[in-house]
Amino acid sequence: MVERGGLENRCPPSADRGFESLSLRMKILVFSSRKYEHKFLTLVNNQKHELTFADVRLSEDTVHLAKGYAAVSVFVNDNVSTPIIEELHRLGVKYILLRSAGFNHVDYAKAKSLGMRVARVPAYSPYAVAEHAVMLMLSLNRNIIRAHSRVMDLNFSLDGLTGFDMNGKVAGIIGTGTIGAVVCRILTGFGCKVLAYDVQQNDELINRYNVTYVPLEKLFSESDIISLHCPLMEKTKYLIRKENIDSMKPGVMLINTSRGGLVNTKDVINGLKTGKIGYLGLDVYEEEEHLFFADHSEEILQDESIARLLTFRNVLITGHQAFLTNEAIENIARTTLFNADCFESQIKCANEL
Ligand code: NAD
Repeated sequence: MVERGGLENRCPPSADRGFESLSLRMKILVFSSRKYEHKFLTLVNNQKHELTFADVRLSEDTVHLAKGYAAVSVFVNDNVSTPIIEELHRLGVKYILLRSAGFNHVDYAKAKSLGMRVARVPAYSPYAVAEHAVMLMLSLNRNIIRAHSRVMDLNFSLDGLTGFDMNGKVAGIIGTGTIGAVVCRILTGFGCKVLAYDVQQNDELINRYNVTYVPLEKLFSESDIISLHCPLMEKTKYLIRKENIDSMKPGVMLINTSRGGLVNTKDVINGLKTGKIGYLGLDVYEEEEHLFFADHSEEILQDESIARLLTFRNVLITGHQAFLTNEAIENIARTTLFNADCFESQIKCANEL
């Protein structure tokens, strides 16, 4: 469904955007747009650009909708591969505005080679994602879902609900960029001993928060909880796979709020079956493209891996919602439209890929 941006909602222009004196008007088609973001995009836009909301994903079947638009805006599961970019270019689209930090799904080199400009939202609320990761840790640890459904059934038995103190546990954080750094700080507050692995060290985490950078093998073998916060790239694809799971502590807790492809789902299912993995918290999933952000409740589930994952009591899955706070969505809207302003006025954009 394609819907025009409701222009009746207005908000004063934000002073920090710095484009208010320019009279810009770009036609932007917002793919994969959801109700929760229409309000923010419309308010922040303040009638500057012509926004059209499409709830469909950008794909081979929907790319034709972009005809007549100067820009398309896309989210994490839109198809922005080489052939789609070529088609967008043929249709006259000049700009691609990502409403995400991650850009592993975009062939931006191809876009650049065709003279198109691509920008992302590098940081919108690291707190949203970091807090969600910690929420998964605590909910799994203290069996919150099971406890709640018991209470709803007037079953106040505590058997099977025993958790562990976070205080004193070893947490291994892979990727200490914007989000991973916040996770490190929160877990330090709990009294965890935080080990970290990153290709770049963050000195503030070492000096102020007592975080210890270690080789990946040491992080795998010594952590009680492992949380992933690095990007998905060729080098990090299946970072969590059989040989690494084998080297982990028995009963380890794994949390992935980063990208599904970091984890080999089949190997993790085997780890859960043997008990090697004691808890699994996922906000992202390897095959999420075909499942997430849509209601499949009336359909027969075809995905065998997710079907198996849902049978484990010690697995907690959310549908890529770690970013979903009011603050984050407003920031995404602001930066996306800031990027559009930069492109339209042909100036340098710090968020350009
Ligand atoms: P960031 O770029 O600030 O940090 C990423 C960190 O990973 C950097 O410090 C980088 O040096 C490090 N890194 C790069 N290669 C590495 C490697 N091979 N091994 C270990 N570390 C490596 O990104 P961020 O904003 O902190 O986001 C982290 C990830 O979270 C993103 O890549 C994105 O995929 C994901 N994310 C998920 C959601 C969600 O809703 N679930 C929302 C936003 C971001």
